[in-house]
Amino acid sequence: MKKILNLQCVQCGKEHTTRESDYVCNSCGGNLEINYDYKLINKRFDYDVLEKNDNYNMWRYVDLLPVEEHKEMPPVQVGWTPLYRLDDLAKELGISKLYIKDEGRNPTGSIKDRGSAVAVARALELGAKVITDASSGNASDSLACLTSSLDLKTVIFTPKNTPIPKLVQLYMYGAQVIRIDGTYDDAFELCKAASAKYGWYNRAAGFNPFGREGKKTCAFEICEQMQWEAPDKVLVAVGDGTILSGMWKGFTDFNKLGIIEKMPQMIAVQAEGSAAIKNAWENKTEATAVQASTIADSISVNYPRDAYLALQALQESNGMALSVSDEEIITAMKELARKTGIFAEPSGAVTYAGLKKLVEQGAIKKDESVAIVVGGNGLKDIGAAAKAVDISQVFVKPTLEEIEKLGLVKEK
Ligand SMILES: *Cc1c(COP(=O)(O)O)cnc(C)c1O
Ligand SMILES: [Zn+2]
Repeated sequence: MKKILNLQCVQCGKEHTTRESDYVCNSCGGNLEINYDYKLINKRFDYDVLEKNDNYNMWRYVDLLPVEEHKEMPPVQVGWTPLYRLDDLAKELGISKLYIKDEGRNPTGSIKDRGSAVAVARALELGAKVITDASSGNASDSLACLTSSLDLKTVIFTPKNTPIPKLVQLYMYGAQVIRIDGTYDDAFELCKAASAKYGWYNRAAGFNPFGREGKKTCAFEICEQMQWEAPDKVLVAVGDGTILSGMWKGFTDFNKLGIIEKMPQMIAVQAEGSAAIKNAWENKTEATAVQASTIADSISVNYPRDAYLALQALQESNGMALSVSDEEIITAMKELARKTGIFAEPSGAVTYAGLKKLVEQGAIKKDESVAIVVGGNGLKDIGAAAKAVDISQVFVKPTLEEIEKLGLVKEK
């Protein structure tokens, strides 16, 4: 592929061709980053091209993605999710401009559809027969969806904490599901071993650099939806760190191509019980494993697989990292739903919880614009949502008298 210069190791710098490795460095095992020939891309891609493009999904940016083709996939719309501007909520919080990117509007209800789409397109280009993944649900759901109508067998390794709705989605799309009696990290390792042994194409987060590229499109859309500008601050929920590093790369790509000038500050929000990247950022060290425990399953990660590039994104963007408690996440889910109409899964509401914390700390300047990414839909984890509200109400007889007993009726 002409537009790809090489796949470069983020740790030792070794450059690989696309034939040499699709996953990690063949010298040191570090993650790979895809480098592009921006001069070549610039010849055919700029915002005039985009403005004339009426294909409103993530493939409008295919010139900046590491694949050529994507036509075989099911017709579901991945990307071009709404970016809401919420002036009333901004005012209430005391900030100047607030945007919410609602990724729950993707076909399987999460931002993972973007990464999976690129990974599936890549697997098709390689002629893979089987594609595999490990995830607590969202990444696998999206993979299962996007391969559902293809001749590409999909084998999914799920950890014990996978919420039932996410599990049901997998079976609905017809994936082969392997439920692991263990954590996400256990599922990840087994998926990697099986993929190496059987030659399956592995989509796993962090490990597969093609998936990360798909996340760039979320950043591209934010810029396009803001009329070719980036917000001052972008808050993302962080588990493995792929969304954070992918979106930062997206802003960087647009900057390199002259599409945006100002770069945003990237802000990583983690759950207190799963904060390996935040710890590393604060201690100025490499990421080390934690014993993850949080209600937010999509960011429950012991060892983050994309920590290197995530920390680099924080560094380069002059960003920051913070964590929020499960209690704050549950409160944020409820508040977000009631103030904006957006029903987020716990990992989706994490960014709103983080925003409230930053506002309290005075970390947002008066004139700054802030965008928060809501990564997943609340219907994907009803068990967690039920913790935020009281659904214990008993049935009442269908009579007006019964209604009056509830004390709702005011006399005129
Ligand atoms: C995967 C996911 C995240 C975390 O993304 P990482 O790339 O693992 O950091 C956050 N929110 C939702 C909804 C997700 O599905
Ligand atoms: Zn290396």
